[in-house]
Amino acid sequence: MLQTIRTSHPRVYKHFSALEDGEKYVQQIIDIDAYWERVQGQSVEQVVVDGGSPAMMQDVDGEFDIICAGGTLGLLHASVMASVHGFRVLVFDRYAVGKATRDWNISREELDSLEKVGLFTSDQVDACIVSRYKTGWAEFSVSEDRRKRLYLDNVLDCALEADLLLGLALDKVTASPGCMVAHRMTFTRVHRYRDCVIVEVLDSEKVTRRYRARVFIDAMGITSPVAMQLNDGRPQTHVCPTVGTIASGLEGVDHEVGEILVSTEPADMSSGRGRQLIWEGFPAGRDRYITYLFFYDEIDSPNDKSLLGLFESYFEKLPGYKMPGRDFMVERPVFGIIPAYWHDGFSLSRRIADDRILMLGDAATLNSPLTFCGFGSFIRNISRLTGGLASALREGRLDRSSLEQVSAYEPNVAAMANLMKYMCYDSTTDDPNFVNELMNEVMVVLDSLPPRYREAMFKDRMQLGELMVVGLNVAVRYPDVLRMTFEKLGFGGTIGMMKNLLGWAVSPVR
Ligand SMILES: Cc1cc2nc3c(=O)[nH]c(=O)nc-3n(C[C@H](O)[C@H](O)[C@H](O)COP(=O)(O)OP(=O)(O)OC[C@H]3O[C@@H](n4cnc5c(N)ncnc54)[C@H](O)[C@@H]3O)c2cc1C
Repeated sequence: MLQTIRTSHPRVYKHFSALEDGEKYVQQIIDIDAYWERVQGQSVEQVVVDGGSPAMMQDVDGEFDIICAGGTLGLLHASVMASVHGFRVLVFDRYAVGKATRDWNISREELDSLEKVGLFTSDQVDACIVSRYKTGWAEFSVSEDRRKRLYLDNVLDCALEADLLLGLALDKVTASPGCMVAHRMTFTRVHRYRDCVIVEVLDSEKVTRRYRARVFIDAMGITSPVAMQLNDGRPQTHVCPTVGTIASGLEGVDHEVGEILVSTEPADMSSGRGRQLIWEGFPAGRDRYITYLFFYDEIDSPNDKSLLGLFESYFEKLPGYKMPGRDFMVERPVFGIIPAYWHDGFSLSRRIADDRILMLGDAATLNSPLTFCGFGSFIRNISRLTGGLASALREGRLDRSSLEQVSAYEPNVAAMANLMKYMCYDSTTDDPNFVNELMNEVMVVLDSLPPRYREAMFKDRMQLGELMVVGLNVAVRYPDVLRMTFEKLGFGGTIGMMKNLLGWAVSPVR
């Protein structure tokens, strides 16, 4: 696989060839990049089918209460359902269950939910934290005399080693009676009956197997074929392709401070209608440092959004952010497409459930892409996502509308997708430094307001009144934003934003 990218992506080839698992990572990246073809395709694969042959009902390889496809957040969810609520769970993944292609940053206080839900002790959670830092900051590339570095305390200040946390969850599932974990098992189809589902998979030997359960959890991330079908081939409206590395040997890094959002140049015009590239940098324990490069975009923009292409840009541009020293060594790449959905209406307008089917995590696409916090959103909502499903199972309420109530839809988070639209650079409407100028003004405004405003914004806890205060202050300082709103969002998008805000204003507090 590496050989196929040797001339098309020479920098990726060079760095990945030096990794023990370079081949595996390139394969995973190509598998995720297949999303772009599927999302632009004419026909949608039909993987949710009603019923099946009567023989299929009898001929199953195992029976469970819950079957979960996807072994990242799906595994965390499964571990609560198995070890706390006592359900029989099967969790499987097309790769290894419990091995993430990224690590997570979060605040320590948010992790308390794992204790509260009865999954882990505080000591177990602490053992997964590989680095804690004093503070973090965000800064955008404008002229030095106007540049505002915004400091953020208690935000994303813990770096978790995802695989350590997932390893603990894996132990919980395997130790629970009647549960099963299957590695390298690929979802192919779910047959839905009145009182059960039958999930069809290919095992590691490419043999078809079938398992019966009361409910199916789709935790297959952005590439979920279930989310694709149930949303008519359009499961996301926006995306944030993200790549990076956990590496040692970068010069000039501060191992006590997190760099939460950083831009170093105006929009990059090398692709389609342009993209505003943004960096993140976090200490990752010992001498390691994690750096990410990403950009926000509309799903159907003409830009190259492939992770492979972005990795090539990452290795090319890294020296402009953090200089690799003589000892620079990539330990592991991190990558993925962060999904986003803009709900065109007063409330949830995306399919996140169906009868006996519930989507979780990125498959549900309910988290705010602005803050990067899909893991954080799951942790914040873990009590409802697990307790709600346990009640639904006990009471036999497994229809679509009951399962939708279990979900993590939050009107305040949904409204943030409007703000993300300002971060999607478009050369047909924006000056090359538009995103940086606007974000610098947001940093100035947040800096002038009490710390709770910035904390709320970066932890997805913004209240409507707080957003209004920030928005009005930005408009006063940077009146161009009003003109840009109509140009960038268009009439429909502006009305849509108002609908989102109104829906948020009248939504019941959950
Ligand atoms: C680089 C990066 C950094 C991030 N950093 C943070 C952070 O610091 N803090 C934070 O809160 N969030 C962060 N996020 C977001 C967070 O990682 C995601 O929201 C979260 O991982 C989503 O988990 P998931 O289980 O829904 O999807 P995924 O993590 O994508 O997992 C889906 C799983 O489904 C499996 N799968 C797919 N198709 C099939 C199939 N057909 N059959 C079987 N299995 C299948 C995949 O192999 C995969 O293991 C980051 C995201 C990225 C990309």
